[in-house]
Formats: sequence, structure tokens, C-alpha cells
Amino acid sequence: MAAYTPPLDDMAFVLHDVLAVHDSPLPGYADLDRAFTAAILDEAGRIARDVLAPLNATGDRQGCRLENGTVRTPEGFRRAFELLRAGGWTSIDCDPAYGGQGLPYVLHAAVGEMHSAANMAFAMYSGLTHGAYTAIHAHGSDAQKAAYLPKLVTCEWTGTMNLTEPHAGTDLGLLRTRAEPQSDGTHRITGQKIFISAGDHDLAENIVHLVLARTPQAPAGVKGISLFIVPKYLPNPDGTLGERNALSVGKLEEKMGIHGNATCVMNYDGATGWLLGPENAGLKAMFTMMNEARAQVGMQGLAQAAGAYQLAAAYARERL
Ligand SMILES: Cc1cc2nc3c(=O)[nH]c(=O)nc-3n(C[C@H](O)[C@H](O)[C@H](O)COP(=O)(O)OP(=O)(O)OC[C@H]3O[C@@H](n4cnc5c(N)ncnc54)[C@H](O)[C@@H]3O)c2cc1C
Repeated sequence: MAAYTPPLDDMAFVLHDVLAVHDSPLPGYADLDRAFTAAILDEAGRIARDVLAPLNATGDRQGCRLENGTVRTPEGFRRAFELLRAGGWTSIDCDPAYGGQGLPYVLHAAVGEMHSAANMAFAMYSGLTHGAYTAIHAHGSDAQKAAYLPKLVTCEWTGTMNLTEPHAGTDLGLLRTRAEPQSDGTHRITGQKIFISAGDHDLAENIVHLVLARTPQAPAGVKGISLFIVPKYLPNPDGTLGERNALSVGKLEEKMGIHGNATCVMNYDGATGWLLGPENAGLKAMFTMMNEARAQVGMQGLAQAAGAYQLAAAYARERL
């Protein structure tokens, strides 16, 4: 049996018979008739079944490798990521002003559910990028939006979120990463982050890290945290890539079942960062990304349960 069968009938039932998306007065929903959603979900499901699911077990067994400071993803991930980008699957609900398709988030979520069920480790690379896109879209200056959003929409560049530190997970008020203001308006970011999903890889030409840090006079606790854009390669004013930023992968960490996603210790050694949103309001800005991540984690749980159910049902039927 196939490792994953896209639940297209169930999705059509939820979208049209339960949610009645085709009747919704919300902006962007007018296009969502049954034929339209079926065409999109059919093709997304084919990619999940034929491209992503076959890379799931092999990707987990092979895992990511750290070679000379760069993370190599498992065999087949690069080609699959290019296919995802070329088909516009990373831009479904993104703002057309930055190259997105402007379709409702519900369609993006349905596609994401199938891709997560087929290969969660793989789907996390574009999933985190979407979160970084949302945070910059909500809190970035016009110049930051122009510089980063078109690249994140297409996943030419990918995104990460850097909250956790060795001594600060749940209690982010304790975080110690420092941000020293510079005369040119940038900040120098110094500190260590752990458990950073998609922290480094070979799927995109640049990686845009969103990093929580403290400025020198910041008040203690969560009211003294700011958010910074810290790209792996510093973009030139014309959008081309400039020099490598002062950040590196300390090591790859272990996360059961998602070895195909690079979970990294990230070291920032005076890296150049740009403030995203107001100083000391960084946790609020980061929660734009975190809240999306929370919804995605719930969706991933559903996706894993659906995939596990399919395998269990097939095994029960075959094992006479
Ligand atoms: C699959 C996965 C992906 C992840 N990806 C990222 C990522 O991309 N970027 C990132 O920054 N992080 C990431 N993380 C890390 C994640 O954010 C942390 O694991 C999480 O914040 C919890 O922190 P911790 O693991 O240090 O646990 P702890 O904070 O040590 O918590 C352990 C237990 O102690 C309790 N606890 C902790 N502090 C207190 C307190 N003050 N009062 C009462 N109870 C408390 C907690 O509720 C919990 O039950 C990821 C984690 C996982 C599992």
C-alpha cells in the first residue's frame, strides 16, 4: 500500500459541507468553489503521496549532517523543496503585494496538513518560513518588508525562530542573548540558542533568523526582550547576497522522528541584526510567529495521527 493516501474526500467534506467555505463572505473566499479546492488539494495530495512520503523514512534514517559548518539535508530533500517552490506551494495565502497568491489561510492549512502527514520533518522548513513571513509582515518596516518578504514567500530564503536558550525555555524572561546598538543603526547579537528547527540547511540560499535578545538598558524579565532579524548572509541594498554573518551552527540536536529537519544549536558571535518592531516589545512581535507555530503544531498532531491511523488500518487488514 502507499505510505500515505491523501484524505481528499474528508477534506472536501470539512471545507464545503461543514465549513461551507464557498459561501463565506470573508475576503478571498469567493474563489473557493468545490472544483477549485479539489484541483488544488488533488495536486497537493499527489505531491504528499508521491514525492514527500517516500522521503519520510529514508530522511529520518539518514538524518541531517553537519559538514564544515553547513548542514546537509537527507537525499532527495533538495529536489523536493525545489518542486514545492516551483509549484508555488509556499505562497498560497501570502500577500500578493509580495508575490503571494492571496488565497485564504484555510487552503494553506489543508495543504500543510497533507504535507506534514507525509513528511513532517520536510514540511517544517517551509512552515517556519511562513511564520517568519507573518512576523515580518506584521511588524517590519516598509524597507524590511521589501527586502525579506518576496524571498520568504517563494522560500528562496527560509526562516527560523530563535527563542530557546540552554537555561531558558518556557521562562523566556531569563534569556541572556545580548544586542549591542551600533552607530549605523544595526545591533551586534551575541549569545547561544538551542533547539532551533531548520536552523541551517542546504535548501535555500539564505536563512533569516528571527532572534530574541536584550539591549543594554533593557528592563529585567519579558518586558526587556527585543526581536531582531539576523540573516545568515547579509543582503546588499540591491537584494544580492553579501558577506556571511557572524553566526554558526554549534551542533545538530536530536529530536525523535524528525531527523530530516535540522535542529540546531545556534551561536551568535557579534552577528549583525536589525530590530524588528519596537525595542522591548520583541516577545509580542515573536508571538505573531509563535501563535502561528502553535496552530501548526496542533495541525501536525492531527496530521501524524491521520498518517498513523492509515498505516495501522492497512496493517490490520493485511495481517491475517
Ligand atoms: C519539536 C520541537 C521544535 C522546537 N523548535 C524550536 C525552535 O524552532 N526555536 C526555539 O527557540 N525553540 C524550539 N523548541 C524548544 C521549545 O520552545 C522549548 O522546548 C520549550 O519552550 C520548553 O522549554 P524547555 O524544553 O527548556 O523546557 P523547560 O522550560 O525546562 O520546561 C520543563 C517543564 O518545566 C515547567 N516549567 C518551566 N519553567 C517553569 C516556571 N517558571 N514555572 C513553572 N513551571 C515551569 C514547564 O511547564 C515544563 O513542564 C522546540 C521544541 C520542540 C520539542
